[in-house]
Amino acid sequence: MTIQDQTGAAFRPADRIATLGVSEIVQIGATAAAMKRAGRPTIILGAGEPDFDTPEPIKAAAAAAMARGETKYTALDGTPGLKAAIVEKFRRENGVAYKASEITVGTGAKQVLYNAMMASLNPGDEVIIPTPCWTSYFDIVRIAGGVPVAVPCAGARGFRLQPEDLAAAITPRTRWLMLNSPSNPTGAAYTEADYRPILDVLLAHPQLWLVADDMYEHICYDGFRFTTPAALEPRLKDRILTVNGVSKAYAMTGWRIGYAGGPEALIKAMAVVQSQSTSCPSSISQAAAEAALTGPQDLLAERAADFQRRRDLVVAGLNAIPGISCRVPEGAFYTFASCAGLIGARTPEGGTITSDRDFCAWLLETADVAMVPGAAFGLSPYFRISYATAEAELREALARIAAACARLSRA
Ligand code: PMP
Repeated sequence: MTIQDQTGAAFRPADRIATLGVSEIVQIGATAAAMKRAGRPTIILGAGEPDFDTPEPIKAAAAAAMARGETKYTALDGTPGLKAAIVEKFRRENGVAYKASEITVGTGAKQVLYNAMMASLNPGDEVIIPTPCWTSYFDIVRIAGGVPVAVPCAGARGFRLQPEDLAAAITPRTRWLMLNSPSNPTGAAYTEADYRPILDVLLAHPQLWLVADDMYEHICYDGFRFTTPAALEPRLKDRILTVNGVSKAYAMTGWRIGYAGGPEALIKAMAVVQSQSTSCPSSISQAAAEAALTGPQDLLAERAADFQRRRDLVVAGLNAIPGISCRVPEGAFYTFASCAGLIGARTPEGGTITSDRDFCAWLLETADVAMVPGAAFGLSPYFRISYATAEAELREALARIAAACARLSRA
C-alpha cells in the first residue's frame, strides 16, 4: 500500500502495519454515523461502550484534581494513590494480593495489553487467542512482532476454550494465552470449573503465560460468580497478567484508564514501553479513576441489573426470529447470535445472503440497523449486537430486524 500526495511523494507504511486496517467495528460505526448525519433513522448496535454517563462524583474528583493543580506529568505507570486503590480493588473484589510494584496503569486497558506484548514478544513468538475474540488482540500481537494463533471455540461449547484445544495449539514458540471473561463479543464467562482444566494445562507448560482480560467483570448476570485465574491458582500468579479498567464498569471509556496486576519484572518492562510512548496516563483521569475505585460501588450492581433487562429483551427478540438463534450470555453487553438459518436466503432486492457480512450489510442498507458481523471477531456466520443502548431503540431495532428477515425467501 502506498499513498501518493499531490507532489508525487509516496508514503510507505512500515511492514509491521502494512497489512493491518482500521478495526471493522470502527468502520461500521463510522458508516452508520454518517448515515445518521445524512438524516436516516439508523440505529447503531455496534459500539462497545455503556450508554450512561460517568457518575457525577467521579467527574467531581477530576475537577478537584485540576483545582489542586494535578495537571502535570505523573509517575510513569500510575500515581501512588491510584496504584494503592488498585491494590485494594484486587484484594477486596478478587482476593488477589498484589503489591504496588506489581501494578501498572495505562491509557486504557488497550494500552496495557499493547505494553505487555511490546515488552515480552520477540519476532515469531506465538500468542494463543481463543476465537471469537475482541478484534484488537490479533493486531496488537502483530504490531508487537508476534504471531496470533486462533483457537476456535464453538457456540455449542458455550464459546469457551476447551483444554484439549489449548494443549494442541501450544508449540515451543508459545508465550501467552489470552483469555477474556466475560467475553467481547460472545458474553460467555468462565466459572471456576471452566478455568480449572485450562489452568492445569498452563501448569504443565512453564513457558506459557496468561493474560486474563477481566474488563467486563462487573457486568455479570443471573448471580454469575465472577472469578479470575490469579485468585484460583496461586502457583500461576507470577505468570498471569490480570488486566482490568474503568471504561466499562464506570462508563469511563473516554477517560482512558486501564490497569493490570502482574509479576514485577513484566510490570517494569511494560513501564519501559510506556516511558517512550505516552510518559504516563492523564493525571486528571487517574484522579477520576481513583475516585471510581475507592468510592461507593452500589452503582455497579444497578447497572448490571439494567443491562440484564436489556439482555433478556434482545435474546428473546432474536430467538423469536426464524433463522436466528442466540445463546444466553453470562455477562458483558453483547449477544453473539447465529444467522446460519438465513445463509442462502434471497433478498427482495434480488440478492442472496451468502455470509454474515452480507447479512449485516443488507440490514444496514435496508433496515438502518448497524451490527458487526461475526467474521470481524473470527467466527461466521454470526453477528454481534451491543445492547448498551436505550431500551426503546433496542425494541425498534428488533422489530426492524424481524420485519427485514420476514421479507427474505429462505431456501
Ligand atoms: N478488553 C476488551 C475485551 C474490550 O472489549 C475492551 C474495549 N472494547 C478493552 C479490553 C479495552 O478497553 P479500554 O482500552 O477502554 O480500557
